Amino acid sequence: MTEHPAPDLRRDLVTASRILFMKNILDGFGHVSARDPEDPETFLISRNMAPGLVSRADIMRLDFDGNDVENSGHRPFLERFIHASIYRHRSDVNAIVHSHTASVLPFSISKGSTLEPVMHMSGFLGARVPVYEVRDHGHLGCDMLVRNSEMGDELARTLGDEAVILMRGHGMTVVAPDVRLAVFRAVYTDVNARVQTAALSMGEYTALTPGEASAADETNSAQNLRTWALWETQVQNGCAD
Ligand code: MN
Repeated sequence: MTEHPAPDLRRDLVTASRILFMKNILDGFGHVSARDPEDPETFLISRNMAPGLVSRADIMRLDFDGNDVENSGHRPFLERFIHASIYRHRSDVNAIVHSHTASVLPFSISKGSTLEPVMHMSGFLGARVPVYEVRDHGHLGCDMLVRNSEMGDELARTLGDEAVILMRGHGMTVVAPDVRLAVFRAVYTDVNARVQTAALSMGEYTALTPGEASAADETNSAQNLRTWALWETQVQNGCAD
């Protein structure tokens, strides 16, 4: 069995998984993946397990049909099609986080409020955050999980060119050009949701304009290594925050 790509990406994926658990983005569920730069029609993701317990030996490599290309024998996540379909549709995406983050979920079900950037750290939310509604695609009475390529493709098409998509009554999926930025975006989607919910409780509020969001995103995309260094040290030291 040939293991590639370079060890660094697998290590980053383990670190990402542990950071996302530490930051309460993932709990016992959810996953983070990275496209394999040496074989871009495959991606790396852990086997079916709690993200906070992932180690290097748990990483497997899947193709866009969700097949285990290294025959690891590990059991994959049911929702691997979220990752497979988005990588197939978006050549600019090299890392993906899928979570059921509680702060974000209200915006997936609200009929009155939509998630939008309300602070500079979350400019990547852009002008709109789409919501994937399984019922709009004829999935009535389903368990809400993206468990095949058909649903994955629906999700990817609804995501369009955006960085974040909410999934009604289920969670969110965050995409980025690399793992470290995907972690940054997932963490600040959670922060933005909490700030927006607090502002909603006070009444009317002012969100970023699309121009402000875009400018802030450009600045922060170059700043995310600072937070990665901090969070990586925290998980390596076993520190909770
Ligand atoms: Mn899920």
